[in-house]
Amino acid sequence: MALFQEIQAPNVKYNQPLGLFINNEFMKGIDGKTFVTTNPYDQKPIVAVHEATEKDVQVAVQAARGAFEGSWSIVTPSDRGKMLTKLADLMAAKLETIAATISLDNGKALSAAMFEVTNAIDCFRYYGGWADKVVGQTIDTDPASMTYTRHEPLGVCGLIVAWNLPISLLSWKVAPAIATGNTVVLKSAELTPLSSLYIAQLIKEAGFPAGVINILSGFGSIAGKAMTTHMDIDKISFTGSLAVGRQVLHAAANSNLKKVTLELGGKSPNIVFPDANLDHVMSWVNVGAFFYQGQVCCAGSRILVHEAIYERFLDMLKKRTKINKVGDPFDPDTFQGPQVSVAQFERVMAYIEDGKKAGATIIAGGGRIGSEGLFIQPTIFTDVRDDMAIVKDEIFGPVCTVHKFKDEKEAIEIANSTHYGLAAAVHTADLNTAFHVSNSIKAGTVWINNFGLINPQAPFGGYKQSGFGRELGSYALEAYTQVKLVRCWLAGPVFP
Ligand code: NAD
Repeated sequence: MALFQEIQAPNVKYNQPLGLFINNEFMKGIDGKTFVTTNPYDQKPIVAVHEATEKDVQVAVQAARGAFEGSWSIVTPSDRGKMLTKLADLMAAKLETIAATISLDNGKALSAAMFEVTNAIDCFRYYGGWADKVVGQTIDTDPASMTYTRHEPLGVCGLIVAWNLPISLLSWKVAPAIATGNTVVLKSAELTPLSSLYIAQLIKEAGFPAGVINILSGFGSIAGKAMTTHMDIDKISFTGSLAVGRQVLHAAANSNLKKVTLELGGKSPNIVFPDANLDHVMSWVNVGAFFYQGQVCCAGSRILVHEAIYERFLDMLKKRTKINKVGDPFDPDTFQGPQVSVAQFERVMAYIEDGKKAGATIIAGGGRIGSEGLFIQPTIFTDVRDDMAIVKDEIFGPVCTVHKFKDEKEAIEIANSTHYGLAAAVHTADLNTAFHVSNSIKAGTVWINNFGLINPQAPFGGYKQSGFGRELGSYALEAYTQVKLVRCWLAGPVFP
Protein backbone atom coordinates (compact mmCIF):
# COMPACT_ATOMS: atom_id res chain seq x y z
CA MET A 1 0.00 0.00 0.00
CA ALA A 2 1.14 3.54 -0.81
CA LEU A 3 2.54 5.98 1.73
CA PHE A 4 0.45 8.93 0.52
CA GLN A 5 -2.98 9.32 -1.06
CA GLU A 6 -4.73 12.32 -2.53
CA ILE A 7 -7.97 13.02 -0.66
CA GLN A 8 -10.78 15.30 -1.73
CA ALA A 9 -12.44 16.75 1.37
CA PRO A 10 -15.45 19.03 0.81
CA ASN A 11 -13.33 22.13 1.44
CA VAL A 12 -9.89 21.11 0.15
CA LYS A 13 -7.97 18.56 -1.93
CA TYR A 14 -4.76 17.44 -0.20
CA ASN A 15 -2.13 14.72 -0.01
CA GLN A 16 -2.74 12.51 3.05
CA PRO A 17 0.31 10.73 4.54
CA LEU A 18 -0.50 7.12 5.48
CA GLY A 19 2.74 5.68 6.86
CA LEU A 20 4.29 5.44 10.29
CA PHE A 21 6.46 8.51 10.88
CA ILE A 22 9.80 7.36 12.31
CA ASN A 23 13.19 9.07 11.97
CA ASN A 24 11.59 11.85 9.89
CA GLU A 25 10.40 9.39 7.21
CA PHE A 26 7.05 7.79 6.46
CA MET A 27 7.27 4.01 6.30
CA LYS A 28 5.22 0.84 6.20
CA GLY A 29 4.80 -1.21 9.36
CA ILE A 30 7.19 -4.15 9.76
CA ASP A 31 4.30 -6.62 9.93
CA GLY A 32 2.72 -5.01 6.84
CA LYS A 33 -0.61 -4.36 8.59
CA THR A 34 -3.03 -1.55 7.75
CA PHE A 35 -6.41 -0.42 9.06
CA VAL A 36 -9.21 1.61 7.58
CA THR A 37 -10.37 4.91 9.02
CA THR A 38 -14.05 5.75 8.58
CA ASN A 39 -15.99 8.97 8.10
CA PRO A 40 -18.58 9.16 10.92
CA TYR A 41 -20.83 11.41 8.81
CA ASP A 42 -21.59 8.85 6.09
CA GLN A 43 -19.86 5.88 7.74
CA LYS A 44 -17.94 5.22 4.55
CA PRO A 45 -14.25 4.27 4.59
CA ILE A 46 -11.92 7.22 3.95
CA VAL A 47 -8.57 5.51 3.52
CA ALA A 48 -6.37 2.79 5.03
CA VAL A 49 -3.32 3.78 7.08
CA HIS A 50 -0.30 1.70 8.07
CA GLU A 51 -0.56 0.11 11.50
CA ALA A 52 2.18 0.04 14.12
CA THR A 53 2.71 -3.22 16.00
CA GLU A 54 5.18 -4.02 18.81
CA LYS A 55 8.07 -4.19 16.31
CA ASP A 56 7.40 -0.68 15.01
CA VAL A 57 7.12 0.68 18.56
CA GLN A 58 10.55 -0.83 19.17
CA VAL A 59 11.99 0.91 16.08
CA ALA A 60 10.37 4.22 17.00
CA VAL A 61 11.68 4.06 20.57
CA GLN A 62 15.17 3.26 19.29
CA ALA A 63 14.94 6.28 16.97
CA ALA A 64 13.80 8.51 19.83
CA ARG A 65 16.53 7.17 22.15
CA GLY A 66 19.20 7.66 19.47
CA ALA A 67 18.11 11.27 18.94
CA PHE A 68 17.90 11.95 22.67
CA GLU A 69 21.45 10.78 23.29
CA GLY A 70 22.78 12.17 20.01
CA SER A 71 21.64 14.95 17.67
CA TRP A 72 18.98 16.40 19.98
CA SER A 73 21.28 16.62 23.01
CA ILE A 74 23.45 19.26 21.30
CA VAL A 75 20.57 21.48 20.11
CA THR A 76 20.34 24.62 22.24
CA PRO A 77 17.11 25.37 24.13
CA SER A 78 16.75 28.49 22.03
CA ASP A 79 16.89 26.44 18.80
CA ARG A 80 14.34 23.99 20.22
CA GLY A 81 12.05 26.97 20.71
CA LYS A 82 12.60 28.18 17.14
CA MET A 83 11.66 24.75 15.76
CA LEU A 84 8.44 24.68 17.79
CA THR A 85 7.57 28.17 16.59
CA LYS A 86 8.35 27.18 12.98
CA LEU A 87 6.05 24.17 13.34
CA ALA A 88 3.33 26.53 14.57
CA ASP A 89 3.88 28.74 11.48
CA LEU A 90 3.69 25.73 9.14
CA MET A 91 0.48 24.59 10.82
CA ALA A 92 -1.02 28.07 10.55
CA ALA A 93 -0.33 28.07 6.81
CA LYS A 94 -2.34 24.80 6.53
CA LEU A 95 -4.97 25.53 9.15
CA GLU A 96 -7.97 24.73 7.01
CA THR A 97 -6.46 21.53 5.63
CA ILE A 98 -5.55 20.27 9.10
CA ALA A 99 -9.07 21.13 10.28
CA ALA A 100 -10.44 19.10 7.35
CA THR A 101 -8.38 16.06 8.36
CA ILE A 102 -9.98 16.28 11.83
CA SER A 103 -13.53 16.70 10.52
CA LEU A 104 -13.07 13.81 8.10
CA ASP A 105 -12.29 10.98 10.50
CA ASN A 106 -13.70 12.52 13.68
CA GLY A 107 -16.96 14.08 12.50
CA LYS A 108 -16.32 17.34 14.34
CA ALA A 109 -17.86 20.46 12.80
CA LEU A 110 -15.24 22.20 10.65
CA SER A 111 -15.66 25.39 12.70
CA ALA A 112 -14.87 23.44 15.88
CA ALA A 113 -11.93 21.75 14.15
CA MET A 114 -10.54 25.17 13.09
CA PHE A 115 -10.86 26.25 16.72
CA GLU A 116 -8.99 23.13 17.80
CA VAL A 117 -6.13 23.63 15.34
CA THR A 118 -5.83 27.29 16.37
CA ASN A 119 -5.54 26.14 20.00
CA ALA A 120 -2.79 23.70 18.97
CA ILE A 121 -0.89 26.39 17.04
CA ASP A 122 -1.07 28.70 20.07
CA CYS A 123 0.20 25.83 22.21
CA PHE A 124 3.27 25.22 20.01
CA ARG A 125 4.04 28.97 20.03
CA TYR A 126 3.58 29.16 23.80
CA TYR A 127 6.05 26.34 24.51
CA GLY A 128 8.37 27.64 21.78
CA GLY A 129 8.67 30.68 24.04
CA TRP A 130 9.30 28.53 27.12
CA ALA A 131 12.13 26.41 25.67
CA ASP A 132 14.95 28.80 26.69
CA LYS A 133 13.35 29.89 29.96
CA VAL A 134 13.40 26.65 31.93
CA VAL A 135 15.74 27.37 34.82
CA GLY A 136 16.80 25.75 38.07
CA GLN A 137 17.82 27.39 41.33
CA THR A 138 21.08 28.51 42.88
CA ILE A 139 20.88 27.64 46.56
CA ASP A 140 23.03 29.38 49.14
CA THR A 141 23.70 26.53 51.60
CA ASP A 142 27.02 27.73 53.09
CA PRO A 143 30.09 29.70 52.03
CA ALA A 144 32.10 26.61 51.16
CA SER A 145 29.65 25.18 48.61
CA MET A 146 28.24 25.97 45.22
CA THR A 147 24.76 24.38 45.08
CA TYR A 148 22.34 24.49 42.17
CA THR A 149 19.57 22.53 40.47
CA ARG A 150 19.11 21.65 36.83
CA HIS A 151 15.73 20.84 35.31
CA GLU A 152 16.71 18.03 32.98
CA PRO A 153 14.57 16.23 30.40
CA LEU A 154 13.23 12.76 31.27
CA GLY A 155 14.38 11.11 28.03
CA VAL A 156 12.01 9.27 25.67
CA CYS A 157 8.36 10.15 26.31
CA GLY A 158 5.49 7.97 25.07
CA LEU A 159 2.42 10.05 24.33
CA ILE A 160 -0.96 8.34 23.97
CA VAL A 161 -4.00 10.42 23.01
CA ALA A 162 -7.78 10.07 22.72
CA TRP A 163 -9.82 10.63 19.55
CA ASN A 164 -11.96 13.54 20.72
CA LEU A 165 -9.33 16.30 20.42
CA PRO A 166 -6.67 14.67 18.25
CA ILE A 167 -4.58 17.76 17.50
CA SER A 168 -5.11 19.73 20.70
CA LEU A 169 -4.01 16.70 22.71
CA LEU A 170 -1.02 16.14 20.41
CA SER A 171 0.12 19.74 20.94
CA TRP A 172 -0.52 19.70 24.71
CA LYS A 173 1.92 16.78 25.00
CA VAL A 174 4.45 17.19 22.18
CA ALA A 175 5.11 20.92 22.70
CA PRO A 176 6.12 20.88 26.42
CA ALA A 177 7.98 17.55 26.02
CA ILE A 178 10.07 18.95 23.17
CA ALA A 179 10.54 22.40 24.73
CA THR A 180 12.18 20.73 27.74
CA GLY A 181 14.53 18.60 25.61
CA ASN A 182 12.83 15.19 25.50
CA THR A 183 12.21 13.10 22.41
CA VAL A 184 8.79 11.54 21.80
CA VAL A 185 6.85 8.65 20.32
CA LEU A 186 3.18 9.60 19.94
CA LYS A 187 0.40 7.11 19.23
CA SER A 188 -2.76 8.64 17.84
CA ALA A 189 -6.18 7.14 18.61
CA GLU A 190 -7.21 4.39 16.18
CA LEU A 191 -10.41 6.25 15.22
CA THR A 192 -8.58 9.45 14.25
CA PRO A 193 -5.15 8.90 12.69
CA LEU A 194 -5.36 11.38 9.79
CA SER A 195 -4.62 14.73 11.44
CA SER A 196 -1.56 13.51 13.39
CA LEU A 197 -0.07 12.08 10.19
CA TYR A 198 -0.65 15.39 8.45
CA ILE A 199 1.23 17.22 11.24
CA ALA A 200 4.02 14.61 10.96
CA GLN A 201 4.91 15.74 7.46
CA LEU A 202 5.55 19.29 8.77
CA ILE A 203 8.03 18.13 11.40
CA LYS A 204 11.03 17.65 9.12
CA GLU A 205 10.36 21.00 7.45
CA ALA A 206 10.27 22.68 10.88
CA GLY A 207 13.89 21.55 11.32
CA PHE A 208 13.60 18.81 13.97
CA PRO A 209 16.42 16.24 13.65
CA ALA A 210 15.41 12.69 12.73
CA GLY A 211 14.00 10.67 15.61
CA VAL A 212 12.99 13.60 17.82
CA ILE A 213 9.25 13.36 17.09
CA ASN A 214 7.87 9.99 15.94
CA ILE A 215 4.18 9.47 15.22
CA LEU A 216 2.46 6.08 15.00
CA SER A 217 -1.04 5.02 14.04
CA GLY A 218 -2.19 1.90 15.83
CA PHE A 219 -4.38 0.17 18.33
CA GLY A 220 -4.27 0.61 22.09
CA SER A 221 -4.14 -3.09 22.86
CA ILE A 222 -1.12 -3.57 20.59
CA ALA A 223 0.95 -0.41 19.99
CA GLY A 224 -0.34 1.40 23.08
CA LYS A 225 0.37 -1.57 25.31
CA ALA A 226 3.83 -1.99 23.76
CA MET A 227 4.57 1.60 24.75
CA THR A 228 3.30 1.42 28.32
CA THR A 229 5.24 -1.81 29.00
CA HIS A 230 8.40 -0.71 27.17
CA MET A 231 11.59 -0.78 29.25
CA ASP A 232 13.21 2.14 27.41
CA ILE A 233 10.36 4.67 27.56
CA ASP A 234 10.91 7.02 30.49
CA LYS A 235 7.47 8.55 30.72
CA ILE A 236 3.94 7.98 29.49
CA SER A 237 1.58 10.90 29.16
CA PHE A 238 -1.85 9.39 28.62
CA THR A 239 -5.20 10.97 27.75
CA GLY A 240 -8.17 8.64 27.63
CA SER A 241 -10.65 6.72 29.71
CA LEU A 242 -10.41 5.87 33.39
CA ALA A 243 -10.41 2.12 32.64
CA VAL A 244 -7.42 2.34 30.31
CA GLY A 245 -5.72 4.85 32.62
CA ARG A 246 -5.66 2.14 35.31
CA GLN A 247 -4.05 -0.29 32.84
CA VAL A 248 -1.41 2.29 31.94
CA LEU A 249 -0.51 2.72 35.59
CA HIS A 250 -0.29 -1.07 36.09
CA ALA A 251 1.92 -1.39 33.02
CA ALA A 252 4.25 1.34 34.24
CA ALA A 253 4.46 -0.27 37.68
CA ASN A 254 5.13 -3.71 36.23
CA SER A 255 7.82 -2.58 33.76
CA ASN A 256 10.43 0.12 34.43
CA LEU A 257 8.43 2.35 36.81
CA LYS A 258 8.22 4.97 34.08
CA LYS A 259 6.69 8.24 35.15
CA VAL A 260 3.02 8.68 34.28
CA THR A 261 0.65 11.57 33.72
CA LEU A 262 -3.03 10.65 33.42
CA GLU A 263 -5.66 12.92 31.88
CA LEU A 264 -8.89 10.98 32.26
CA GLY A 265 -12.63 11.54 32.13
CA GLY A 266 -15.04 13.77 33.99
CA LYS A 267 -18.62 14.35 35.09
CA SER A 268 -18.39 18.08 35.56
CA PRO A 269 -21.01 20.10 37.45
CA ASN A 270 -22.24 23.39 35.99
CA ILE A 271 -23.87 25.32 38.86
CA VAL A 272 -26.36 28.12 38.30
CA PHE A 273 -27.38 30.53 41.09
CA PRO A 274 -30.52 32.67 40.83
CA ASP A 275 -28.63 35.98 40.52
CA ALA A 276 -26.77 34.87 37.36
CA ASN A 277 -27.57 36.44 34.00
CA LEU A 278 -29.61 33.56 32.57
CA ASP A 279 -29.30 34.70 28.95
CA HIS A 280 -25.53 34.44 29.21
CA VAL A 281 -25.73 31.25 31.24
CA MET A 282 -27.75 29.53 28.49
CA SER A 283 -24.87 29.85 26.03
CA TRP A 284 -22.33 28.46 28.49
CA VAL A 285 -24.60 25.63 29.60
CA ASN A 286 -25.38 24.72 26.01
CA VAL A 287 -21.70 24.72 25.05
CA GLY A 288 -20.81 22.83 28.22
CA ALA A 289 -23.27 20.01 27.60
CA PHE A 290 -23.57 19.78 23.83
CA PHE A 291 -20.49 21.27 22.16
CA TYR A 292 -18.85 18.70 19.94
CA GLN A 293 -21.69 16.22 20.51
CA GLY A 294 -20.87 16.10 24.24
CA GLN A 295 -17.63 14.25 23.45
CA VAL A 296 -15.56 16.45 25.71
CA CYS A 297 -13.70 15.26 28.81
CA CYS A 298 -14.74 18.32 30.81
CA ALA A 299 -18.33 18.44 29.45
CA GLY A 300 -20.73 20.14 31.86
CA SER A 301 -22.99 17.12 31.88
CA ARG A 302 -24.45 17.68 35.38
CA ILE A 303 -26.32 20.97 35.56
CA LEU A 304 -27.19 22.16 39.08
CA VAL A 305 -29.89 24.84 39.24
CA HIS A 306 -31.23 26.79 42.23
CA GLU A 307 -34.86 25.98 43.01
CA ALA A 308 -35.93 29.64 42.64
CA ILE A 309 -35.16 29.63 38.89
CA TYR A 310 -35.50 25.91 38.16
CA GLU A 311 -38.66 25.92 36.00
CA ARG A 312 -37.66 29.06 34.09
CA PHE A 313 -34.18 27.63 33.50
CA LEU A 314 -35.57 24.36 32.09
CA ASP A 315 -37.82 26.28 29.70
CA MET A 316 -34.95 28.41 28.47
CA LEU A 317 -32.59 25.43 28.07
CA LYS A 318 -35.16 23.44 26.08
CA LYS A 319 -35.52 26.37 23.69
CA ARG A 320 -31.75 26.92 23.50
CA THR A 321 -31.01 23.34 22.43
CA LYS A 322 -33.38 23.70 19.47
CA ILE A 323 -31.12 26.38 17.94
CA ASN A 324 -28.14 24.01 17.66
CA LYS A 325 -27.74 23.14 13.99
CA VAL A 326 -27.10 19.44 13.56
CA GLY A 327 -25.71 17.97 10.36
CA ASP A 328 -22.80 17.80 7.92
CA PRO A 329 -19.54 18.69 9.72
CA PHE A 330 -18.40 20.59 6.63
CA ASP A 331 -21.46 22.87 6.62
CA PRO A 332 -20.16 26.15 8.14
CA ASP A 333 -23.31 26.54 10.28
CA THR A 334 -23.14 23.09 11.85
CA PHE A 335 -22.86 23.07 15.65
CA GLN A 336 -23.33 19.34 16.19
CA GLY A 337 -22.00 16.58 13.95
CA PRO A 338 -22.35 12.80 14.26
CA GLN A 339 -20.99 10.80 17.21
CA VAL A 340 -17.53 9.52 16.34
CA SER A 341 -18.39 5.86 15.75
CA VAL A 342 -21.19 3.29 15.77
CA ALA A 343 -19.88 1.97 19.10
CA GLN A 344 -19.99 5.41 20.71
CA PHE A 345 -23.43 6.09 19.23
CA GLU A 346 -24.79 2.82 20.64
CA ARG A 347 -23.16 3.44 24.00
CA VAL A 348 -24.81 6.86 24.34
CA MET A 349 -28.20 5.52 23.20
CA ALA A 350 -27.91 2.72 25.77
CA TYR A 351 -27.34 5.31 28.51
CA ILE A 352 -30.45 7.21 27.39
CA GLU A 353 -32.52 4.02 27.53
CA ASP A 354 -31.05 3.22 30.93
CA GLY A 355 -32.03 6.68 32.22
CA LYS A 356 -35.59 6.19 30.99
CA LYS A 357 -35.85 2.76 32.64
CA ALA A 358 -34.43 4.09 35.90
CA GLY A 359 -37.30 6.57 36.08
CA ALA A 360 -35.69 9.87 35.07
CA THR A 361 -37.80 12.30 33.04
CA ILE A 362 -36.73 13.42 29.58
CA ILE A 363 -37.69 17.04 28.88
CA ALA A 364 -35.85 17.35 25.55
CA GLY A 365 -34.39 14.90 23.04
CA GLY A 366 -34.07 11.29 24.04
CA GLY A 367 -33.59 9.67 20.66
CA ARG A 368 -31.61 9.57 17.44
CA ILE A 369 -32.10 12.26 14.82
CA GLY A 370 -33.65 10.74 11.70
CA SER A 371 -33.58 7.06 10.94
CA GLU A 372 -29.94 6.68 9.93
CA GLY A 373 -26.60 8.26 10.71
CA LEU A 374 -24.92 8.74 14.07
CA PHE A 375 -26.81 11.87 15.17
CA ILE A 376 -28.34 12.05 18.66
CA GLN A 377 -30.80 14.66 19.88
CA PRO A 378 -29.49 16.97 22.61
CA THR A 379 -31.03 15.20 25.60
CA ILE A 380 -31.98 16.70 28.97
CA PHE A 381 -32.92 14.51 31.94
CA THR A 382 -34.62 15.77 35.12
CA ASP A 383 -35.90 13.91 38.22
CA VAL A 384 -32.60 12.11 38.55
CA ARG A 385 -31.13 10.23 41.52
CA ASP A 386 -27.50 9.75 42.57
CA ASP A 387 -27.61 6.01 41.94
CA MET A 388 -28.57 6.35 38.25
CA ALA A 389 -25.90 5.50 35.66
CA ILE A 390 -26.73 8.69 33.73
CA VAL A 391 -25.71 10.66 36.84
CA LYS A 392 -22.63 8.63 37.80
CA ASP A 393 -20.96 7.69 34.51
CA GLU A 394 -19.23 9.75 31.87
CA ILE A 395 -21.60 9.33 28.90
CA PHE A 396 -19.51 11.21 26.32
CA GLY A 397 -22.55 12.20 24.27
CA PRO A 398 -25.07 15.08 24.05
CA VAL A 399 -26.82 14.10 27.28
CA CYS A 400 -27.10 16.08 30.52
CA THR A 401 -28.90 15.76 33.84
CA VAL A 402 -30.44 18.73 35.66
CA HIS A 403 -30.44 18.76 39.47
CA LYS A 404 -32.32 21.15 41.75
CA PHE A 405 -30.61 22.62 44.83
CA LYS A 406 -31.86 24.85 47.65
CA ASP A 407 -28.69 26.53 48.90
CA GLU A 408 -24.94 26.82 48.44
CA LYS A 409 -24.20 23.94 50.81
CA GLU A 410 -26.38 21.54 48.87
CA ALA A 411 -24.94 22.70 45.54
CA ILE A 412 -21.41 21.94 46.77
CA GLU A 413 -22.49 18.52 48.07
CA ILE A 414 -24.07 17.52 44.75
CA ALA A 415 -21.13 18.95 42.79
CA ASN A 416 -18.63 16.88 44.77
CA SER A 417 -20.69 13.66 44.79
CA THR A 418 -18.67 12.06 41.98
CA HIS A 419 -15.43 10.10 41.76
CA TYR A 420 -14.34 12.42 38.96
CA GLY A 421 -12.82 15.87 39.51
CA LEU A 422 -11.80 17.32 36.18
CA ALA A 423 -13.72 20.60 36.03
CA ALA A 424 -16.72 22.58 37.26
CA ALA A 425 -18.39 25.94 36.73
CA VAL A 426 -20.34 28.36 38.86
CA HIS A 427 -22.58 31.11 37.52
CA THR A 428 -23.43 33.95 39.90
CA ALA A 429 -23.20 37.73 40.23
CA ASP A 430 -22.07 37.42 43.86
CA LEU A 431 -18.30 37.35 44.38
CA ASN A 432 -18.57 35.68 47.78
CA THR A 433 -20.65 32.85 46.33
CA ALA A 434 -18.31 32.52 43.35
CA PHE A 435 -15.16 32.21 45.43
CA HIS A 436 -16.63 30.17 48.25
CA VAL A 437 -18.13 27.62 45.86
CA SER A 438 -15.06 27.46 43.61
CA ASN A 439 -12.79 26.94 46.64
CA SER A 440 -15.06 24.15 47.92
CA ILE A 441 -15.27 22.15 44.72
CA LYS A 442 -12.86 19.27 44.26
CA ALA A 443 -11.86 19.75 40.64
CA GLY A 444 -8.76 20.75 38.69
CA THR A 445 -10.51 23.69 37.00
CA VAL A 446 -13.39 25.88 38.14
CA TRP A 447 -14.81 28.33 35.65
CA ILE A 448 -16.74 31.34 37.00
CA ASN A 449 -19.42 32.74 34.69
CA ASN A 450 -18.14 30.79 31.69
CA PHE A 451 -17.62 27.18 30.71
CA GLY A 452 -14.76 25.42 28.98
CA LEU A 453 -12.31 28.26 28.42
CA ILE A 454 -9.04 26.38 27.93
CA ASN A 455 -5.87 28.24 27.09
CA PRO A 456 -2.29 27.00 26.57
CA GLN A 457 -1.09 29.36 29.30
CA ALA A 458 -3.35 27.90 32.00
CA PRO A 459 -2.97 24.42 33.56
CA PHE A 460 -5.52 21.68 32.93
CA GLY A 461 -5.90 18.35 34.73
CA GLY A 462 -7.86 16.37 37.24
CA TYR A 463 -8.54 15.85 40.93
CA LYS A 464 -9.66 12.45 42.21
CA GLN A 465 -10.10 9.79 39.49
CA SER A 466 -9.85 12.31 36.66
CA GLY A 467 -6.11 11.73 36.80
CA PHE A 468 -2.94 13.41 37.98
CA GLY A 469 -0.29 15.71 36.62
CA ARG A 470 -1.07 18.86 34.72
CA GLU A 471 -1.01 19.74 31.06
CA LEU A 472 -0.54 23.26 29.72
CA GLY A 473 0.91 26.33 31.37
CA SER A 474 4.25 26.32 33.14
CA TYR A 475 2.95 23.34 35.17
CA ALA A 476 3.38 21.00 32.19
CA LEU A 477 7.11 21.75 32.15
CA GLU A 478 7.34 19.93 35.49
CA ALA A 479 5.67 16.91 33.93
CA TYR A 480 8.51 16.54 31.42
CA THR A 481 11.55 17.39 33.56
CA GLN A 482 13.37 15.96 36.55
CA VAL A 483 15.35 17.97 39.06
CA LYS A 484 19.05 17.28 39.50
CA LEU A 485 20.87 18.75 42.47
CA VAL A 486 24.54 19.62 42.01
CA ARG A 487 26.70 20.43 45.05
CA CYS A 488 30.27 21.55 44.65
CA TRP A 489 32.57 21.74 47.68
CA LEU A 490 34.65 24.85 47.08
CA ALA A 491 37.18 25.07 49.87
CA GLY A 492 38.08 24.18 53.42
CA PRO A 493 38.61 20.92 55.27
CA VAL A 494 37.30 17.66 53.95
CA PHE A 495 34.09 16.61 55.71
CA PRO A 496 35.10 14.48 58.72
P1 NAD B 1 -9.51 5.18 25.52
O1 NAD B 1 -9.01 5.09 26.91
O2 NAD B 1 -10.29 4.06 24.99
O3 NAD B 1 -8.29 5.38 24.51
C1 NAD B 1 -7.37 6.43 24.65
C2 NAD B 1 -6.06 6.05 23.99
O4 NAD B 1 -5.50 4.95 24.70
C3 NAD B 1 -6.19 5.60 22.54
O5 NAD B 1 -5.08 6.09 21.81
C4 NAD B 1 -6.13 4.09 22.64
O6 NAD B 1 -5.62 3.47 21.49
C5 NAD B 1 -5.16 3.92 23.79
N1 NAD B 1 -5.26 2.64 24.49
C6 NAD B 1 -6.36 1.82 24.60
N2 NAD B 1 -6.03 0.73 25.33
C7 NAD B 1 -4.74 0.85 25.68
C8 NAD B 1 -3.84 0.06 26.45
N3 NAD B 1 -4.21 -1.11 26.98
N4 NAD B 1 -2.58 0.50 26.63
C9 NAD B 1 -2.19 1.69 26.11
N5 NAD B 1 -2.98 2.47 25.36
C10 NAD B 1 -4.24 2.08 25.16
O7 NAD B 1 -10.30 6.56 25.46
P2 NAD B 1 -11.07 7.19 24.23
O8 NAD B 1 -12.37 6.51 24.08
O9 NAD B 1 -10.16 7.27 23.05
O10 NAD B 1 -11.26 8.70 24.74
C11 NAD B 1 -12.30 9.12 25.52
C12 NAD B 1 -11.81 9.33 26.94
O11 NAD B 1 -10.74 10.27 26.99
C13 NAD B 1 -12.91 9.93 27.80
O12 NAD B 1 -12.94 9.27 29.04
C14 NAD B 1 -12.46 11.37 27.97
O13 NAD B 1 -12.95 12.00 29.11
C15 NAD B 1 -10.97 11.24 27.99
N6 NAD B 1 -10.31 12.52 27.70
C16 NAD B 1 -9.68 13.21 28.72
C17 NAD B 1 -9.09 14.45 28.47
C18 NAD B 1 -8.39 15.21 29.58
O14 NAD B 1 -7.65 16.13 29.28
N7 NAD B 1 -8.61 14.88 30.83
C19 NAD B 1 -9.11 14.99 27.19
C20 NAD B 1 -9.75 14.26 26.18
C21 NAD B 1 -10.34 13.02 26.45
